[in-house]
Amino acid sequence: MKKTRILIPEPASHFIRVKCTNCNNEQVVYSNSAFPARCLSCGTQLVYPQGGKAKIAGETLRQLG
Ligand SMILES: [Zn+2]
Repeated sequence: MKKTRILIPEPASHFIRVKCTNCNNEQVVYSNSAFPARCLSCGTQLVYPQGGKAKIAGETLRQLG
């Protein structure tokens, strides 16, 4: 008997450059981060982990790869 394997598609993960809406500081964060990332300059939380793809609170400027 053959077992059908269902492959769970992994979410595309990449690094993105975001701009803090509070102080305009730019920094690179991981789009699938499991941990909250804060702005290095003012401490505003920029990444909210949601189990899969993280929610980016700042302005996304560029995807890095
Ligand atoms: Zn900031």
